[in-house]
Amino acid sequence: MEEKINENKKMNIKDNVILSIQNASYRYSDATSDEYAIKDISYDFEKGKIYAIRGRSGSGKTTLLSLISGLERCTEGTILFDGKDLKDINLDTYRNSQIGIVFQSYNLLPYMTASENIILSMDASGQKIENKKQKAIELMESVGLKSDYADRRVLRLSGGEQQRVAIARSLSYNPKMIVADEPTGNLDKQTESEILEIFKKLAHEEGKCVIIVTHSPNVCEIVDEIYDLKKVK
Ligand code: ADP
Ligand code: MG
Repeated sequence: MEEKINENKKMNIKDNVILSIQNASYRYSDATSDEYAIKDISYDFEKGKIYAIRGRSGSGKTTLLSLISGLERCTEGTILFDGKDLKDINLDTYRNSQIGIVFQSYNLLPYMTASENIILSMDASGQKIENKKQKAIELMESVGLKSDYADRRVLRLSGGEQQRVAIARSLSYNPKMIVADEPTGNLDKQTESEILEIFKKLAHEEGKCVIIVTHSPNVCEIVDEIYDLKKVK
């Protein structure tokens, strides 16, 4: 613990910062010489807070999310997760076991049941989890899904229910950070509010860092901080 604090001091990171983006830039390999998708971004994300990343189409939201979630590495600058440089860690392990990811289109396996989807993610995390089915049901209940839904195929759930399963799945290995790409983009207003309540609770009551990429004014209204992404030139 003390070692960790010293390490953080050395790198100039506050203790509650879980993700630190420092002068990050990214250029796609097929871009013309000076065309950056994102340029010189610096921002700290803290535990216990919920954030929105907002920006017009083409401002680099998806690119930034790919960097945060370890799908791409920044071409310049540094991203530190829990004090560790993403350049130095295995990004597959990072994605499968350190952060939870929620997509606009849920990305569940439709022919599998809700609990099977969650258990699959527990298995991929490589963490030793006891009583997986029971744990999956508890996670489903924590996001407002009755236990009867555990054995139902995803295909037979509504959009809002599928997104709840996707959130439960993202929590299956208890990550400190959850990133979500337009998670309410396909949902009606009432369902959006219910899903946002879940994210808010995860940040404020469970101490997670929640980052939501969004266009929705409803999302921006309930978050603690908004990061406005500006288009490069
Ligand atoms: P947003 O999600 O905010 O709409 P993106 O991150 O998708 O923005 O895109 C940011 C910039 O990067 C845009 O100028 C876009 O044209 C460019 N870009 C996105 N994906 C690619 C790609 N695969 N190859 C080259 N350029 C890309
Ligand atoms: Mg996008």
